[in-house]
Amino acid sequence: PESPRALSAESPRGRAIADAAATVIPGGVNSSTRYIGAPYAFVAADGAYLTDADGRRYLDYHAAFGAILLGHNAPVVNDAIRTALDGVDLTGIGVTEAEVRLAQRIVEVIPSAESMIATMSGSEATAQAIRLARAVTDRDLIVKFQGGFHGWHDAVARNVISAPDKAYGRDPLSRGILDQAVDATLIAEFNDLDSVAALFDTHRDRIAAVILEPIPHNVGALLPTTEFVEGLRKLTEQQGALLIFDEVITGFRHALGGYQQVIGVTPDLTTFGKGMANGFPVGGLAGRRDLMEHFNGRTGDVLLAGTFNGNPLGCAAALATIDYLADHPEFYTRTHALGARIRTGLRGILAEFGIEATVAGFGGVFAVYFLSGPALGYRDLLRNDNGAYVDFHRGMTERGFLMLPMALKRNHVSGAHTEEEIDQTLEAAREVLKTLAR
Ligand code: PLP
Repeated sequence: PESPRALSAESPRGRAIADAAATVIPGGVNSSTRYIGAPYAFVAADGAYLTDADGRRYLDYHAAFGAILLGHNAPVVNDAIRTALDGVDLTGIGVTEAEVRLAQRIVEVIPSAESMIATMSGSEATAQAIRLARAVTDRDLIVKFQGGFHGWHDAVARNVISAPDKAYGRDPLSRGILDQAVDATLIAEFNDLDSVAALFDTHRDRIAAVILEPIPHNVGALLPTTEFVEGLRKLTEQQGALLIFDEVITGFRHALGGYQQVIGVTPDLTTFGKGMANGFPVGGLAGRRDLMEHFNGRTGDVLLAGTFNGNPLGCAAALATIDYLADHPEFYTRTHALGARIRTGLRGILAEFGIEATVAGFGGVFAVYFLSGPALGYRDLLRNDNGAYVDFHRGMTERGFLMLPMALKRNHVSGAHTEEEIDQTLEAAREVLKTLAR
């Protein structure tokens, strides 16, 4: 990134666009979590870089919350979409070849997938997974973990980044959600099997499913222990509940077969989204055939509908992304090595300046927690110095490195980042962290 910048000043075009947005779009952004008070308006995207309206380039680790996997405007994906543009646009009846090929590909590469449906987003996939779990078990409650995020819909929109006094308690993300919906989702602690077993004890024969991000990236990167995930598999089986892996972030990013391939535990259902189509709107739900068959429009009993489900452009983008990953296993060795390089580099700098911090992550994902000691569960994150992250983020943005603005979130190395850029990032981080050293 060439040009350091001060975000709030010297951005006349970005400011004008943001001001215009604020008059016709609530808060000036189309998703509540995009607001950060700065006039971000981007006009171009290319590989690892974003260019704003005032001509400044940023090295992008935000990656649209992880939807960018291969890099912005990856030619293989864009070419596939261009080709698909000249084919069938949308029919609303029957199926297209691209939908079949996408489902075949998912069944081939995802260990738990015997059949698959394509949605438009991750939220739709988790909503369908939960409805399916309730239908097949004939039970009403769901278990999610404090810190896990599974989309904006009522069944899951609670207890993500909770303040200390709200953690594990009643912490819906929004008003307007029925109390019954909030209360039908129980909260457990990640990496703490006893907290899940206790819920099964209290709510005997009422829990339909346990849903988890195998690595809760919505609060950075809490790495699961194998015993914990194996324990969840065993417990849900014993209790007649389904195990749902929400691989919307981990899927395709950490391994072609998702994090389930890495940890060797097979869930009943898996949800996908984000990186699956490298920035184009596609989500997916895959799993055991006997469960998925409930969506069968002729013989099943669970409604699954969506005008744009399996649309040709989305399927083309997803297929091109997954085909690329399948044909280029070096994508994983490269992004994992770059992720390790930035994590190790950051740890070294933080130690050098005596800053209490924990750098966590997996593959190309890294998270900087300003706390001491390991981060295993959300309880550990309550000690995070959020203000220190905000200062770190501001310093990095001013130097042209775009990261997630919220404390406790993660950042992403894409297939377009290079070793040289990682080293430039570390140089900038050294300058920024030096100012944070006490
Ligand atoms: N699941 C996880 C793990 C996510 O991180 C998100 C989005 O951040 C979702 C589900 C919801 O996906 P979408 O925003 O595509 O609806």
